[in-house]
Amino acid sequence: MIRTSDLLTLTPAGLYCPPGDFHIDAMRGVPRNLVTHAHSDHARAGHDTVSATAETLDIMELRLGAGFCRQREVMAYGQSRQIGDVRVAFHPAGHILGSAQIAIEKDGFRVVVSGDFKRGADPTCRPFEVVPCDAYVTEATFGLPVFAFPDPEVELAKLLGSRGMFPERTHAVGAYALGKAQRLMRMLAVAGYDRPVWYHPAVAPLAEYYRQRGIDLGDIRPVDDVAPASLAGEIVICTPGSLKNGWAERFPDPLIATASGWMQVRARARQINVQLPLVISDHADWPSLCATARDVEAGELWVTHGETEALVHWATLQGIDARPLDLIGYGDEDAEPAVGQAA
Ligand SMILES: [Zn+2]
Ligand SMILES: [Zn+2]
Repeated sequence: MIRTSDLLTLTPAGLYCPPGDFHIDAMRGVPRNLVTHAHSDHARAGHDTVSATAETLDIMELRLGAGFCRQREVMAYGQSRQIGDVRVAFHPAGHILGSAQIAIEKDGFRVVVSGDFKRGADPTCRPFEVVPCDAYVTEATFGLPVFAFPDPEVELAKLLGSRGMFPERTHAVGAYALGKAQRLMRMLAVAGYDRPVWYHPAVAPLAEYYRQRGIDLGDIRPVDDVAPASLAGEIVICTPGSLKNGWAERFPDPLIATASGWMQVRARARQINVQLPLVISDHADWPSLCATARDVEAGELWVTHGETEALVHWATLQGIDARPLDLIGYGDEDAEPAVGQAA
């Protein structure tokens, strides 16, 4: 009889699968690393072999350089592969382009590692797939009942409404450079926004990559092409870092917005001087964390990072055998370094 701990253990480098002899989202260089997605807290350089979706490998190269590992192995969604004594398959996680949950199976016992995920609609990536399993290893970035995110379209309408109300002000919208920035661009295009969407230079390589992958981001333009004064009334997608360091002050009477799940905490929005908080997250909120734990029908739940305690408590009350892992080093993509900057 196989137990979860036979397939997955904790090492100083992170989650490790002994019978497959590989790590998942390892924090330091390991011989073989399976990567859920390309955000910098999950995808690091210095491994011998990295197995990930084609998009994740491409984005890792964009951000970390071509030498980020010795050997790459492309994992297509839904196709399983034997690694050591286990079968491994990647399934869409709905978090960002290329993001995956990783399923590990041995003798009919299946463990799924969620990586970061969300259940809500995102026009820039494949939707989350429910993969039934015996044990589910979930994130819990927003694992408190207070986090129940509104419809992202409603939040986008707030941005468009504000623009209508303040047509002479530049709307500077903070969004992390990988995923959120492109999602906002795509959402604006889908909403029929008929002005160009401007962006901070750090967003350029990833926006270009999304376009190469066939994701229509609409009419997007780099701000360095024009005089800042000419962007009155326009929407500029900024990195969170550029909002912090005052970069947006160059625009006419800038109105500072930020798209993040954290914007549901009004105190946090005020603290970083966000005038227009937009609750648009690439993570699961509390209702979808709970729904997912139910949907996968796992008897066991491991909670990797974030607000682990409340989710463990809730799962225990549901009769699910739950434990917190409290992995250190996974964080919030809002703290992501931009492309080209040191980590
Ligand atoms: Zn992430
Ligand atoms: Zn993360």
